[in-house]
Amino acid sequence: MDTFKRLILFFLFGVISSCKPESQRASPGIALSFDDRFVQEWERLRPVLKKYDAHATFYVTQFDSLGPEEVEILRQLQADGHEIGAHGATHARSVDYVWQHSMEAYFTNEIEAELKPMQKAGLKVSTFAHPGGQQVWFIDKQLLQKYFVLLRDVALTERDLKLFMLHRPVFGMNEIYYHFDGTPTVSALLIDRSANVPMNALRDGLIRARNTQTVLMLFGHCPIFDKNSPQPYGFEVSRLDSMLAESKKLGLRTYTMSELVKLSRR
Ligand SMILES: [Zn+2]
Repeated sequence: MDTFKRLILFFLFGVISSCKPESQRASPGIALSFDDRFVQEWERLRPVLKKYDAHATFYVTQFDSLGPEEVEILRQLQADGHEIGAHGATHARSVDYVWQHSMEAYFTNEIEAELKPMQKAGLKVSTFAHPGGQQVWFIDKQLLQKYFVLLRDVALTERDLKLFMLHRPVFGMNEIYYHFDGTPTVSALLIDRSANVPMNALRDGLIRARNTQTVLMLFGHCPIFDKNSPQPYGFEVSRLDSMLAESKKLGLRTYTMSELVKLSRR
């Protein structure tokens, strides 16, 4: 990052964050989450997460399709201090499902059908990631009243507006920084290969989190251990490693998604 950008970051966020006394601030950090059902690959992430004493949230979909060994891995991840969250029984998009069926059918077939067996397996599920990133207030209101303390949506740095591609800088995306204000609906930035987020842009985001005493929320899907793998639906583990190293250098800690709400100032 050049000096000019550093100056802008400092004036935009450094000065604002300095308005509050130190004692009232929560520690800045990052909140990582991983989606879908890449349970065996997630298990292979344990050493790198342990190396940095990092805790993450794993959002599981199609829980009933997992074998007993995979359920055991999820229990092990939970025992390591990670959080296991829900991501829908069939990975249905909430608005589409409610439009085609009903609110009741959505809660019964998509939410409770996953939540109950997960709880029965000993998993303490208290947050939910919307498949396809579909948050709408009238569904979210009931999800929060009945089942969860936090709902996570998706944020992207690139958006195809047909006529041109809109690019947003990571340090300027307000919705991906958590302010410990108790907000129960949040967005995390996709860091999969397909999202094209450069490492230096992520670094700018980490600096904003540190300067504003906030938490940068990021998520991905399948961890990729071999750089030559053609898997487009995931992120390279070497990159996650560098990002965690950079976070540590900046004094950032890691949070699970439910911790963000629990540790908020009321
Ligand atoms: Zn998903």
